[in-house]
Amino acid sequence: MTTETFEFQVEARQLLQLMIHSVYSNKDVFLRELVSNASDALDKLRLEKLRDDSLDADVSDLHIEIDVDKEARTLTVRDNGIGMSYDEVGQLIGTIAKSGTATLLKELKEAQDAAGAEGLIGQFGVGFYSAFMVADEVTLVTRRAGESQGTRWSSRGEATYTLETVDDAPQGTSVTLHLKPADPENQLHDYTSPWTIREIVKRYSDFITWPIRMVPEAAEGDSAPEPETLNSMKALWARSREEVSDDEYHELYKHISHDWREPLETIRLQAEGTFEYQALLFVPSHAPHDLFTRDFRRGVQLYVKRVFIMDDCEALLPPYLRFVKGVVDAQDLSLNVSREILQQDRHIRMMQRRLTKKVLSTVKEFMTKDADRYTTFWREFGTVLKEGLVTDSENRDAILAVASFATTRSDDEPTTLARYVERMKDGQEDIYYLTGESRQSIENSPHMEAFRAKGIEVLLLTDAVDEVWVDAVGEYEGRKLRSVAKGEIDLDAKGEEKADEEREKQAEEFAGLLGWMRERLDEDIKEVRLSTRLTVSPACVVSDAHDLTPALENMYRAMGQEVPRTKRILELNPGHPLVKGLNQAYQEREDRTELEESAELLHTLAVLAEGGQPKDPAKFVKLVADRLERTL
Ligand code: ADP
Ligand code: MG
Repeated sequence: MTTETFEFQVEARQLLQLMIHSVYSNKDVFLRELVSNASDALDKLRLEKLRDDSLDADVSDLHIEIDVDKEARTLTVRDNGIGMSYDEVGQLIGTIAKSGTATLLKELKEAQDAAGAEGLIGQFGVGFYSAFMVADEVTLVTRRAGESQGTRWSSRGEATYTLETVDDAPQGTSVTLHLKPADPENQLHDYTSPWTIREIVKRYSDFITWPIRMVPEAAEGDSAPEPETLNSMKALWARSREEVSDDEYHELYKHISHDWREPLETIRLQAEGTFEYQALLFVPSHAPHDLFTRDFRRGVQLYVKRVFIMDDCEALLPPYLRFVKGVVDAQDLSLNVSREILQQDRHIRMMQRRLTKKVLSTVKEFMTKDADRYTTFWREFGTVLKEGLVTDSENRDAILAVASFATTRSDDEPTTLARYVERMKDGQEDIYYLTGESRQSIENSPHMEAFRAKGIEVLLLTDAVDEVWVDAVGEYEGRKLRSVAKGEIDLDAKGEEKADEEREKQAEEFAGLLGWMRERLDEDIKEVRLSTRLTVSPACVVSDAHDLTPALENMYRAMGQEVPRTKRILELNPGHPLVKGLNQAYQEREDRTELEESAELLHTLAVLAEGGQPKDPAKFVKLVADRLERTL
C-alpha cells in the first residue's frame, strides 16, 4: 500500500493558513461544520438507496458518532453515510470549488484588522477546513457506500496532504482531529471534555435529524457504557413557533446555506388541507458572491414527510427569489419525485405562488415596520428582485410596492415610487428616470439640466436590469415611466403663448444649420433638433421613445444577439454661445471644412456626456488637440 503526497490547490492552502492562525474567534463552530457534513452524507446515502435499492449499503442504523480520547487528545466525528471514493477525497477535500474564493482571498489580504478578516471568513463559511482551527493534524478515513476499498486522507494543514487506500474501512467517513495543546485558561473550550461536546452539539446541531451519539469514557472497572444521544432530532419546521428559539432557526440556516452569518429573517409557513406542507424560509443578510453567475445554485431543500429529497429545488421559488434559503417539507409527494416532475406539478406551482407571495409580503413588512432591515434587504437583493418586474407579471405590483430607487432629490435617500408621486410638482404627470452605467455619469448628464433647473425629481437607475423593466412595466398607478433621455421633453407649461412664439422664431433661425448637420452626421444621427431640455450644455443625444437605449443595445450584443445600430437624435441648445456661433458661421461662410469638424466635435461631446464612447477616439483627440493648439 503506497502513500501518495499531493499539494493543496493554491486557494485551499491560503484558506488553511488562515484557519491554522485562527482568524475566526468562535472555534466551537468546527464541530457544527463536521456534523453538518456528516448529516449531509447520511441524507445522500438514504436518498441513493431509495433510488437504487441494489446499492450495497447498510442503512439500518444511520447515525453520527462523536468520540473523544482525553489521553491521546483526539476527537473523532464518524458517520455511516455515503462516504467518498479515492478520487472524490482529492477533489472535495483538496480543493475549494466555491465560486468567489479568489475574490474572498483578495479581500482578506486587503482586510487590515482581525474583525474584518473574521467577517469575510464568516461570509464565506469555511466548512471542513475549520477543523484546523483546533487541530494541528486531521485524518479522515472514508469508504464510499457500495465500494470495497477505503481511503485515508491526512494533513497537517500545510502545503500538502497524503492519500492512501485502506482495506478495512467501514462505510462512511470518520474525521479524527489531533487537537492542539490544551489551554488551561480555557476549560470551556476543552474539546476532549464530554460536557463541552454535549453543550456545543445542543447549541449548534440539535435540529439535525440524525442521531448524534457520544460514548462516554468508561470509568475503571465498569462495563462499556451505553451511547448517549445528544440531539433532540426534531425538525424545526415541524415544531411550534413558541418552542423554537431564534438561535435554533439560525443554526438550521447556517447548516443549509453554508453561510456563517445570521439570516436577516426567518419565514414560517404552514399549509393544511389537500396538499399539506410546511416551509421554513430564510432571507440571508448578505448577497452571496456568485448570485449573478450562471451556475448559481438556487432553490430550497425539499423534504417529503421529514425525508430529505433534494437540495436546490428550483421549482419552489422563481429565479428572482434565488437568494432565499430554506426547507419545504411536503406530505403528499412521492419520495421518488424528480426535478422534471416537480416543474410540472400543479401542487408545486401553487406552492411556489404561495411562497413567493409570502416572501414579498415579508419584504413589505420590513418596509413598513423596520426601516433598517428594509434598507439592508434592498441593498443586498434589490437588483435581483427587480428581475421579477420583467418575469413575474402576477406579482409586478407587489414588487413595485417594495422597490426603491436612487433619486436626484437632495437628501440622498432612495425613494419608493409612491413617495415620488406624492412629491410630484403641480402639473407634472409622468415619473421621470434616467438609466446608465453609474450614478455619477447620469447624475451630471446633460439630459438632467432642465429637470434640475425646474426642480423636478428624476430617478437614477444604474442596474443592468433597470434598462429592461422600465419598458416592461411602462407605468405606475396610471403614471407613465419616462426616460429623460428619450422622446421630446417639454417642461414648459403648455400653450404659453410667449414660449411658443419664441420657439417658432428659433426654429426658423436655425433651420438651415439643423438640416445641414443632419446630413453631415447621417451615419449616426437621424434627426437634429433644438432642445428644450438643455440649459447649460451645448448639445445632447437622445433616443426616440421606443428606441433601445445604447446600454440595452450593448447588453444584447454582449449576449450574442444581432441588433441593428439605432440612430440617435442630436439636440442643440439654441441659447448656448457655441451653438449660436455655429449658426452664424453656417450663414456667413462659404468654406464649410471647419464647420464640419465642429459638427463632429459637438456630436462626440454629446456622446461623451452621456457616458458613451467616441466612434473614432484617435480622430477626436486629434481634432481637439488642433483646436487647443490654435488657442495658444
Ligand atoms: P460544503 O459542506 O460547504 O460543501 P465542506 O468543506 O464542509 O464544504 O465539505 C466539502 C465537501 O467534502 C462536501 O461538499 C462533501 O462533498 C465532502 N464531505 C465532507 N465531509 C464529508 C462526509 N462526512 N461524508 C461525505 N462527504 C463529505
Ligand atoms: Mg460543510
